Amino acid sequence: MLQDRIPIGERISYWPASSDPLCSDIAVYEGADGLWIFDVGFGDLAAKRVNSLPGKKRVVLSHFHQDHMGNLPKISWGQLYLGQYTFRHAGAGQVVAAPIEPEPGVRLFPIPSSHAKGCIGMEVDEMYAFLGDATYCTAKHTQGRLAYNANLLADELNVLRALKAQYFLLSHDGAFVRKKADVLAELEEIYARRVQGEAYIFLDE
Ligand SMILES: [Zn+2]
Repeated sequence: MLQDRIPIGERISYWPASSDPLCSDIAVYEGADGLWIFDVGFGDLAAKRVNSLPGKKRVVLSHFHQDHMGNLPKISWGQLYLGQYTFRHAGAGQVVAAPIEPEPGVRLFPIPSSHAKGCIGMEVDEMYAFLGDATYCTAKHTQGRLAYNANLLADELNVLRALKAQYFLLSHDGAFVRKKADVLAELEEIYARRVQGEAYIFLDE
């Protein structure tokens, strides 16, 4: 139950997201200097899973939503990395305001996102990029509808295109591991629907 992580690469595995309780995927990367945990989920099972991991833990929070960071008070961690807005909720940790490489092979970077303020991504081995929910549309309805902010989407596309990783890992997605090219194509298709002078791209149009 605790160790049923799904392997991705040689040093990467994850526990998949759940909907009851709403809990993000929890990814584990075996770095040269200990484990990296990307998101800590929400709920007792997820907390137990994270706490069952041995050794020094470096935790990265993708964004401030409960299903991604709700377990923070329940888990033990050595170091914590997060975005400025998430820091306001967590009250601890190192803010990632610009790309950093805290260990060779691990790169943390801010992602402009319509989904949430202060999204952070983690790229490992120049092969995989954990993006949390950053590629998703607004979490709350805008004018009663789901939407992308056109300017944020443009900025986000620039950040994502520049990544070396060929695989994007998207939370709550049944596939979890997606090809970079496929994710970019979907987002570019949405961006192409923008209307001059309109701040938002509504998904139901
Ligand atoms: Zn979210």
